[in-house]
Formats: sequence, C-alpha cells, structure tokens
Amino acid sequence: MTAAVDTAVLDRDGLGSLVDALVGDGRTVVGPTVRDGAVVLAELASADELPYGWGVELDAGRYWLVPRDDGAVFAHSAGPQSWKSYLHPARERLWSADRTPEGDGDVSFERHTPDAPAYAFLGVRPCDLRAIAIQDRVLTSGRYSDDGYGARRRGALLIAAECTEPGATCFCVSTGGGPAADPGYDLALTEVIDDDGHRFFVRVGSEEGARLLDQVPHRDADTVTEAVARASVDSARDRMGRALPPVDLRTLLGGSLDADRWDDVAQRCLTCGNCTLVCPTCFCTTTEEVTDLTGDHTERWQRWDSCFDLDFSFLHEGPVRPSARSRYRQWLTHKLSTWHDQFDSSGCVGCGRCIAWCPVGIDITEEVAALHAESETEA
Ligand code: SF4
Ligand code: SF4
Repeated sequence: MTAAVDTAVLDRDGLGSLVDALVGDGRTVVGPTVRDGAVVLAELASADELPYGWGVELDAGRYWLVPRDDGAVFAHSAGPQSWKSYLHPARERLWSADRTPEGDGDVSFERHTPDAPAYAFLGVRPCDLRAIAIQDRVLTSGRYSDDGYGARRRGALLIAAECTEPGATCFCVSTGGGPAADPGYDLALTEVIDDDGHRFFVRVGSEEGARLLDQVPHRDADTVTEAVARASVDSARDRMGRALPPVDLRTLLGGSLDADRWDDVAQRCLTCGNCTLVCPTCFCTTTEEVTDLTGDHTERWQRWDSCFDLDFSFLHEGPVRPSARSRYRQWLTHKLSTWHDQFDSSGCVGCGRCIAWCPVGIDITEEVAALHAESETEA
C-alpha cells in the first residue's frame, strides 16, 4: 500500500461527509440502523440513519436496545444480520428457460447476470471481517466458485468499526481473533468519545480507502486520540462476555461423536436453523425450480439451506441425519472441527449471534464446555 496517510482523525461530522462521499461515488452504502427494536443492517442514504445513541444488551435467546447518553454510533455488538445477507443473499436467480413461441419443443435458456451493486459496508466488526475472509475462501477459492458472490465481493469497500463495547455473547478472543480489525479493510474506524469530543481514529488499509479519506475533512492523527482508541480496544479484549474452552477444539469435537451431551442438547434444540441463518460463515445453499402456470417459463433459484433441515441430508429413501442429535452434532462438529479439513480454519469467529438469536438460548460456548467436561471425565 502506498497511501499518503496511514492514520487520521475524523470528527463526528466527518463521518457524515464520508457517507455523502460514498453515495456521491455511486456506491450502495450499507450500515447499521435502528429498526424493529434492533440494530439491523440496511441501505443508508445519509449518516443521520446510523444508530447514534443506541446500545444493545443481549444474552442467550435475548436481545434488546438500550439508549446511551454519550451519542456513540458503534457501541453495539452484532445484530441479527451479517454482511452475508448482501454478499451471499438468501435468494438469487441463477437462470431461466422459456419454450420457444414456435411450439417446436425447443427451449431457450438465459443465464442471469448476478446483481452486484458497488457496495460500501460501513461498520464491519472485526469478527465479521474475519467471517468475510472465511466466506471468500469457501465461495471463491475452490473448484466451484460462486460468481455472484465473487462479483459483489470484488466491488465491495469495507469500512471496519473496531469494538469498544463487546456484548455478553461475544467471544471472538477465544476463537483466535479480537476486537481489533485485522487487515482486509479499506478504512478502520475506532470511535473515541471523551472531553476532547466525539471522533474516530482512522487507519487506512488500501489505496481505495486513502482515496475516500482524501474526499472528506480529516486531520492528522494525534497521540491522545490514538492512545484512547487503542486503550478502548484493549479494554474490550478483556471484557468479552463468553469464551470457548482453551483446548484443541478440532480434536475435541472430532473425538466427541458419541458424547452423551448430544442427547442433552437435542432435548432443547428445535432444529429451526436460526443459528445457521444468522451465522456469518454458514454458506450452504440449495437450488429450486419454479415454473409459471403455463409451464412455458421456468427459473432456477439458489437459496440458503441449513444442515438443521431434514431435506438437507436426504439421500436415497430418507435423510442421513434424521434426529436433532445428529443434526446439531453435524453443525457444531463441522463448524469447529471438520471446517479445518475443508478450509484450513475454524468456521467460528465468535460473533455470538447463534447464542443471542437461538429461540431457546442454546449457547455454543456452553455446549463445547460440556463436551470438554465429558471428555475429561472419560479420560
Ligand atoms: S441451536 Fe437453537 S437456533 Fe440452532 S437449530 Fe437449535 S433451536 Fe434453532
Ligand atoms: S457459530 Fe455462532 S458465534 Fe460462531 S461465527 Fe457462527 S454465529 Fe457467530
């Protein structure tokens, strides 16, 4: 990178100018906003739609908004959506086919060009930055790359927001990550609010980020702002709400296929699949054909699928994983163990979404701790 500046300070109005510059560049800006009692991701027309003055409280199966009196904009942990809703959307048309009007039995096919707006993602959490890197590997680096994902990802500009207020369900540190942004962003912001005002310490991660920063009012980074920013992120690292057991999870899960704990969690799991839908790394899809009433026009759609769905493992004469025990075991074992075999990493970044948005409050960290305890008992 040959950016003119590596760090800078943006004030509160500067964030508004940043969004205006992105919109002016023709980008589709997506960021956090308050809607329906949650901080959700949505297309933003201006920075006025950002969740200034809102924080969240959350726990297993619970989430609610709390007002803040400091006016912070990024003092909330992960909401119900992740960026995969935009990069790897829940439904996408792949192709359509039509009978030719001549009635000669011929069929014409049209492959659909992926919808790929020039996205700018504002407020990408460090855990979600890592999740995007994981989905990059899964969806674009193998033999079967996803053209739509690749097109959207290539055009996306990522503006990270480092974490200063981790939630009660966050555990990124114990997955090997942390509340500081790893490389991969174009700009990284760290929010600072103190007697010197409301501002953002900015790190530049790419030429595109530097070009964007040049378009908005900013000033050189000062040592006080940088020190407060770094201290806030360090403090967040020490205030994670949860943790996975500090053991080799790949081996633990691989050796726990016959554990009794799977029966315990199966008593509670509704196999609803919410955890896979909210997870920023879960990527599975299926395809389905839909026809019009005449049968002259048909379309193939790709849509998210879930390993909790009975049809997901349907082979000859039935599903391979018919029980809740087998489906929950599949999800957790893939996420923490066999994912390494496929993609050279864990499939979990510790965002905590699957804990907060599980309708019965099943907690991945609690389940792994129980499996670990059971393995210790048997040893
Ligand atoms: S763990 Fe929770 S969210 Fe996941 S399938 Fe079971 S009940 Fe649904
Ligand atoms: S498994 Fe749960 S905590 Fe881990 S990345 Fe997925 S949603 Fe986040």
